[in-house]
Amino acid sequence: MAGEPQADCLFCKIVTGDVPATIVRETDTTVAFRDINPQAPTHVLVIPRAHYPDAAALAAAAPELAADVLREAGEVAVDEKLEAHGYRVVFNTGSGAGQTVFHAHAHVLGGRGLQWPPG
Ligand code: 5GP
Ligand code: ZN
Repeated sequence: MAGEPQADCLFCKIVTGDVPATIVRETDTTVAFRDINPQAPTHVLVIPRAHYPDAAALAAAAPELAADVLREAGEVAVDEKLEAHGYRVVFNTGSGAGQTVFHAHAHVLGGRGLQWPPG
């Protein structure tokens, strides 16, 4: 069923604590943790606790939960003091766009100048 934990999913295992992560924020519906391979001085991932394969599937099936993820991305930016200089929220969608973990996640990137368009 949509949203159910997936046994083979890395981020479901971070939600349960079976895989350790440096968690920076938690809510009833979301977890935010530092990316293991940061691409900027601040690089935090925000995920829904429930499993959806990508952001579009999440938004289609559970729009309030998608909003929770976006709200938490903004709260991470406040906590990490990214607002003054700006930051980027990215949902890589599909392997051709660089998605490697198929549990919806927002990248929150900041702490350095960010080029546009991205690569
Ligand atoms: P994607 O490439 O799917 O958009 O993003 C997946 C992200 O998860 C990558 O930036 C990658 O560095 C990060 N990642 C992969 N494995 C782990 C892990 O075990 N722990 C943490 N904290 N991040 C991970
Ligand atoms: Zn998952």
